[in-house]
Amino acid sequence: MASVTFERVDKSFGTTPALRDISFEAGSGEFLVIVGPSGCGKSTLLRLVTGLESPDAGRILIDGVDVRGMPPKNRGCAMVFQSYALYPHWSVFDNIAFPLRIRRVPKGRIAERVRGIAGSLKLSAHLDKRPKALSGGERQRVALGRAIAADPQIFLFDEPLSNLDAPLRAGMRAEIVARQRELRRTALYVTHDQTEALTMGDRILVLDAGRIMGDGTPQDLYHDPPNRFVATFLGRPAINLVRGRLESINGTIRLEPPGWALPPSVTDRLGARTAGVVEIGVRPEHIVVQEGTGLSPWRVTAREFLGEKIQYTVVRADCTLIGFGPHE
Ligand code: ATP
Repeated sequence: MASVTFERVDKSFGTTPALRDISFEAGSGEFLVIVGPSGCGKSTLLRLVTGLESPDAGRILIDGVDVRGMPPKNRGCAMVFQSYALYPHWSVFDNIAFPLRIRRVPKGRIAERVRGIAGSLKLSAHLDKRPKALSGGERQRVALGRAIAADPQIFLFDEPLSNLDAPLRAGMRAEIVARQRELRRTALYVTHDQTEALTMGDRILVLDAGRIMGDGTPQDLYHDPPNRFVATFLGRPAINLVRGRLESINGTIRLEPPGWALPPSVTDRLGARTAGVVEIGVRPEHIVVQEGTGLSPWRVTAREFLGEKIQYTVVRADCTLIGFGPHE
């Protein structure tokens, strides 16, 4: 196992800054998800770890050792890509065996290891097939198998599930996390998908425009986001942002509009502020919609049946909220 540390790393391509002042540490055995919109610098960050790119400033340490100038093959990393990057004319067996052959592992040992890995990834029946005879999910399991065969200190995943459809993605998410827990290797996992970040990461690094906007556990970043970007990026449906004026009446602080008396959990965060315009974030699951009183100034504009509950869009003046109600 190995930790990965970035200390004030900058990276530009010509005049385009890709990463700015990046500092974080992925602890040994940790599953760190790096998430952010397209172009925020996620892939560049992985390429810096592998040694395919070098930082302009700052230091990168693997297990406490500064890797400046260290060739990629000595860094103990194995990468899994969105495109699978399998050898199309080789069998599944040969693709998985590749890292072992490079290391000149004896033939018998290779066969044993490949069959073991194929068994754990449910690929045993496919060992003689070529990649084109496999489904997308199976191909990605072969790519994962090849990375496992390399026995790396660090797994690097670059959007590995983007080519798969939704049910397969859910299965592979669980598969990757299970293998990483079993092997207890450090993993850096790049994605633009907030669901993958929340469900897979021990910790999440949220990037935007080359900067770190949030660094914490999925729970902390979801329930207590450090800024508006993280609040809106994580969570679907997205957090409701309500802009209004604070008014203090008889010791109660209200938000006008929409005329809410704010509970202590919110007013505690306002500190000494009891006036002025603020924006308050409310997760949809904290808004309970009840239909039928006829007295509410809120109008239901959309009602979506989700099985055990109903998702509502409600509108009042220029404020739109998403909330949930029980299934009648
Ligand atoms: P995506 O999710 O779309 O793959 P990303 O978050 O992985 O994006 P990067 O690929 O790391 O983002 O790119 C970050 C920025 O650096 C972008 O503005 C990109 O255009 C630029 N960039 C990346 N690689 C190069 C390169 N080799 N030459 C020039 N610019 C580059």
